Amino acid sequence: MSEIDFEKIGLKVGLEIHQQLNTNKKLFCKCRPIESDEYTEKFSRSLRTAKSELGKLDPAALFEKTKSKKINYYANSQSSCLVEKDEEPPHDLDHDAKKISLLISSMLESKIFSEIHVMRKTVIDGSNTSGFQRTMLVSQGGNLKVGEKNVGVQAVCLEEDAAKLLSNEQNETNYSLDRLGVPLVEIALDPVSTKPSEVKEIALTLGGLLRATRMVKRGIGSIRQDVNISVMNSGVVEVKGVQQLDQLEKIINYEAKRQHGLILIAEKLKTLSITITKEDVVDVTEIFKACDSKIIQKAQKLNAKIKAIRIRNFSGMFGFEPYPEIRLGKEIGQLVRFFGIGGVFHSDELPNYGINDSDVDKVRKHLELAGEDGFLIIAGEDPKLDYAIDSIIKRIQDATDGVPAETRAATQDGETIFLRPRPGASRMYPETDIPSISVTPQEMKLAMENIPPSLESQYQELEKKYHLNPELAKQLWDSPYLDSVIDVFRQDWFNMKSFEDAKKAANFIASKAVSLKSFEREGLDLSKIDGAWLSKTLGDLADHKIAKERFEQIFRAKISGEEEPGSPSKFRVPSEDELNKILDKIIQDNMDLPEVKEGGEHAVKKLMGIFMKEYRGTVDGKLVHDLLRKKVSEL
Ligand SMILES: [Zn+2]
Repeated sequence: MSEIDFEKIGLKVGLEIHQQLNTNKKLFCKCRPIESDEYTEKFSRSLRTAKSELGKLDPAALFEKTKSKKINYYANSQSSCLVEKDEEPPHDLDHDAKKISLLISSMLESKIFSEIHVMRKTVIDGSNTSGFQRTMLVSQGGNLKVGEKNVGVQAVCLEEDAAKLLSNEQNETNYSLDRLGVPLVEIALDPVSTKPSEVKEIALTLGGLLRATRMVKRGIGSIRQDVNISVMNSGVVEVKGVQQLDQLEKIINYEAKRQHGLILIAEKLKTLSITITKEDVVDVTEIFKACDSKIIQKAQKLNAKIKAIRIRNFSGMFGFEPYPEIRLGKEIGQLVRFFGIGGVFHSDELPNYGINDSDVDKVRKHLELAGEDGFLIIAGEDPKLDYAIDSIIKRIQDATDGVPAETRAATQDGETIFLRPRPGASRMYPETDIPSISVTPQEMKLAMENIPPSLESQYQELEKKYHLNPELAKQLWDSPYLDSVIDVFRQDWFNMKSFEDAKKAANFIASKAVSLKSFEREGLDLSKIDGAWLSKTLGDLADHKIAKERFEQIFRAKISGEEEPGSPSKFRVPSEDELNKILDKIIQDNMDLPEVKEGGEHAVKKLMGIFMKEYRGTVDGKLVHDLLRKKVSEL
């Protein structure tokens, strides 16, 4: 039963896409949205349980609270100020971010509100210093055309991005503030009955629409997908943090199987009379005093308690697998880990892990179990242990309902893992520090007028206009250096070339610009390359003023600050006059070398080597060789 019929199980998927906008400022302050690994400041906070305006405690917040963690923030003054630290109220909304969000809403035919209200959304994992994220509903409704299909748009929001997670340890979480407050749009699509491969298509289409604006950030982490998944109208599960499209397909596949598996488990549970209450929890620390299990021994050294939970008629149900690797035992293992508790064992997997037959017998006897009853053993410290046990009891009670509504995280290998219960409805409340923001009819009109052509037609236009090969045109369009390259194409000298020469030069320059990506992968700081310098250099390259073999070197020099733009340069192709002068100087400087004194081919070879060390790639080697031979023979 490993193949799954998605239609039959009623798979529904709703995508929520978060896309960072390419602005010069953050959403509510003047800090630049740049990411860096250098942090000059560190401060710590402990998590407060956030109370919403309604006075209700958010269940998700309560859950995080039980994990009682210390949170460290790392900051750099270039990318964060007092606003990010929550020590100063937010400034005015960034105008560009507003403009881009209106444009995106218009592209999706979403109805823009004439007044935007800033709301606070409770954040419970510490990813915002203030305990909330600011979000604004910009527009509602709309349509995304995906092939022949229409996918409804629920809403477009403008939001501030969260702090970047650096590491998540047992008792501490570390965040950096450079990403906090970066503007992003959140686009929520209607849930659609679908297949995993179609969801990928939807995500690709929406991604293309966003990129067509040329006003969104690119690269890893700049776009994230949350996916709401349900089967057979059961509980909706939100999967967070899907960064790659291939992963998206895998995750929906996995989650469809997991959810349908849980429904099959529930059907079976309904035929048994399962009971579990707090009365079924028994302290068995004494019984396990002599147990060989490493986990149990470790727990005992820490003075942790060991408890057993009795579940009547549950034998075989922890290990029952309607699909491979989908079973209640695994669900409970994940749940418990989130309380920072490592060890939980269930009756279907014992004896094992150093817990032997006699340990099992003692537990069964102590709990007065019959053959069809099941049990769990869990080790941990109070009060964590009690919270964990409460949530296990609830999870088993809920198992007869099928799929619990919860938030899960995407894993690297395409599965999902329990993150927390779904937040309650009382998560949003108004931001009191910022008055409402109006959207004028003029702004709406401007957004409509600026709707760009589709990504595909923009690729084609670039390809046709400059006679680029199609794949290269696509890559160039995606490159941050597109504008610099087009600058070269527009220069008079370039346009005076013959058609064939211009075509050759255009493809050559474009490929060089695209190749700059490899510098980024090396970790070089490409922000030191400004557009004007780049078009000048690319122009010189096309005009044979710079040897093409020297291109890489010139860039490295520029990035490391060695070379001033426009200065006479060892990177440039020397004129014949210059070349003669350079060679004469080399001969002068090296007259005393034995090979040079000897004269003939030995001298030529030595001098050639000295020249090449400095000027390799700038001049044709044969020309240098001939000139040197002439000069040496004249000596
Ligand atoms: Zn700031």
